[in-house]
Amino acid sequence: MARVVVLGGAESGVGAAVLAKVKGFDVFLSDNGTIKDEYARTLREWNIPFEQGGHTPERIMNADEVIKSPGIPSTAPLVKALAAQGTHIVSEIEFASRYDSAKKICITGSNGKTTTTSLIHYLLKEAGLNVGLGGNIGKSYAYQVATEKHDYYVLEISSFQLDDTYDFRPDIAVITNITPDHLDRYDHKMENYVRAKFKIVRNLRPEDCFIFDSDDAITIEHLSKIVLQAKMLPFTQEKKNLDQGAWLDGNRIVVKYEQSESEIYLRELALGGKHNIYNSMAAALAAKASGIEDEVIRNSLKSFSPIEHRLEPVLSIRDVMYINDSKATNVDSAWYALECQTKPVVWIVGGTDKGNDYSVLNDLVKEKVKAIVCLGVDNSKIHAAFENIVGSENIVDTASADAAVQAASMMASAGDVVLLSPCCASFDLFKNYEDRGKQFKEAVRRL
Ligand code: ADP
Repeated sequence: MARVVVLGGAESGVGAAVLAKVKGFDVFLSDNGTIKDEYARTLREWNIPFEQGGHTPERIMNADEVIKSPGIPSTAPLVKALAAQGTHIVSEIEFASRYDSAKKICITGSNGKTTTTSLIHYLLKEAGLNVGLGGNIGKSYAYQVATEKHDYYVLEISSFQLDDTYDFRPDIAVITNITPDHLDRYDHKMENYVRAKFKIVRNLRPEDCFIFDSDDAITIEHLSKIVLQAKMLPFTQEKKNLDQGAWLDGNRIVVKYEQSESEIYLRELALGGKHNIYNSMAAALAAKASGIEDEVIRNSLKSFSPIEHRLEPVLSIRDVMYINDSKATNVDSAWYALECQTKPVVWIVGGTDKGNDYSVLNDLVKEKVKAIVCLGVDNSKIHAAFENIVGSENIVDTASADAAVQAASMMASAGDVVLLSPCCASFDLFKNYEDRGKQFKEAVRRL
């Protein structure tokens, strides 16, 4: 019996281990850290031997194939040793796709992945298709392939998950956009990061589709260097009469696939903001290329509910609207969050800085932000970047969600917006961005 070893015991790894077990392999899972109770329970239920708190080389180096979780870098000593002896290392999505004949719509990019993935999944569901949602969201793809049966999958895929793919091939691939992020995992080379994202398209066939942002300079530059056989479906906020793709014409989106053209009015979109026009265009194209009727697409883009932690309206208190955009963990996403605000903003910002260059936000801060509440352990870069713009009397430091919300409520007047869009990771004060968003919402409800 062939031996499969899975490295990493969280959502992705445990899903891969269950699938390998179902497919009759001799499976072993190893995690250097602690495996959460719920995952340990699943492994026991499926009778899958595992270890945690360290790796035992004798139980790993004898693998016929290794499935590596996306959180483990290829520079980890054990991974290097496996590669050196020629062991085949694959990612969970590579492994799972071998056992799945469903049509796959796969989304990667720097920002907008979860929103676009959720939109597409919603559109397909509303059209009555039997569709699974996975990848980085919810249950892992491998676990679903092991335990469910779907005709379609909509998968959010990070560049880490693409790292160890070879034959994996979506039917429709989407790259939302590419801006610098996570460069530490790519030798601090943008080129490596871009190439990792573009792995999503390398196996596309002529009948497959590639949906991409043609306003994104990095995407366009990379496309000029490669040859793709797929149907090219660009989306843009310029007015262009494309052969196929989506573009803006005044107050409506035009979507064209093969000979069929349809339109969606901007005022009908459930999700506000310039960035969500892009996400809605990508979703509409994916749906149209999947044969979904125009009316279903239009109605679904209208009835979609905002996703938690992404420009999520929380409450209006004394005519001040509180918005939770905790997922905005880089400068680009905060740019879009500020860009779509139409009322004076008290902006809650800060956290673990990933080498941010805040200067791209200067114009928006000048135009829209009346006060800044810093929420982080070290706020010096935010002071240096914006103190001159908003004035030193309008910028305060806080170190908890409660203190930030209270400070913001003091600085806001009726008709303002309090926007948590932190530009930074959350690990200095919170477990993760979800924890930060939840604590923010609880603090707002306590006001
Ligand atoms: P991801 O899954 O790629 O992290 P999300 O859909 O979760 O992206 O959105 C995260 C944040 O990024 C949102 O809060 C929003 O501020 C911003 N954002 C969403 N879509 C886009 C886009 N197309 N371009 C730029 N920023 C975006």
